[in-house]
Amino acid sequence: MTTPVIELRGVSRRYDDGPPALDEASLTVRPGEAVAILGPSGSGKSSLLNLIAGLDRPDAGTVTVDGVRVDQLGEAGSALYRRSKIGMVFQFFNLLDDLTVADNVALPARLAGAARGAAARRAAELLEALGIGRHARDRPGQLSGGERQRVAVARALMNRPPLLLADEPTGALDAAAGQSVSTLLTDLNAEGQTIVVVTHDLALAKACTSRTVRIADGRIAEDVRPSSVAPEAVR
Ligand code: ADP
Ligand code: MG
Repeated sequence: MTTPVIELRGVSRRYDDGPPALDEASLTVRPGEAVAILGPSGSGKSSLLNLIAGLDRPDAGTVTVDGVRVDQLGEAGSALYRRSKIGMVFQFFNLLDDLTVADNVALPARLAGAARGAAARRAAELLEALGIGRHARDRPGQLSGGERQRVAVARALMNRPPLLLADEPTGALDAAAGQSVSTLLTDLNAEGQTIVVVTHDLALAKACTSRTVRIADGRIAEDVRPSSVAPEAVR
């Protein structure tokens, strides 16, 4: 058995005195998997992603990513963890409009101490590979939503993270741009990138993942790998 990229055990989180946002959730993701986390608004999807990303701590349970006990990290350790182990893509891109597209993409490497030239070269390669090389010197605000999301994906891949996390990556895009981003995620996974996508868009999940995990009221309600279920159909 390969070591999991993500191992969540009995993870619970509640905010203030509300109901639990996560209630003893357990989940294992192995290298090379593409997993969609599906569930209605408010079911705990972003809470789960934030715990995996080390942006928040669970009240109970353990979060291990690529061998790191994320739930035990302090602030500095958590920042270092995010720079080296994960890339994140958000619904609204979260790009910096004061920087060029190329500098946005290079930023994670610069923050991790990479030399300017090496970071710029890798950023240029990524932008080319993702089909947006011609926008390298533009500001993010000059690009379409779909192009901006490609820039965000390039930035997320900059430090070659073992894990790519995306929270509603097509939520702000029109259908065609959403389709192109989901194709991009499929291609990255085909090259071996482990991906966890949070969405309430079943079409996106079907298009770019091979496993769907449903969350309801903070609990893992269903976990389906189409290739390993329906043994009747295989017989
Ligand atoms: P989803 O991403 O599936 O829409 P969330 O994880 O954002 O769901 O939210 C799960 C529940 O936790 C919701 O009831 C939400 O209102 C609550 N919640 C999320 N973040 C916070 C927060 N920072 N403070 C208080 N309540 C929160
Ligand atoms: Mg959410």
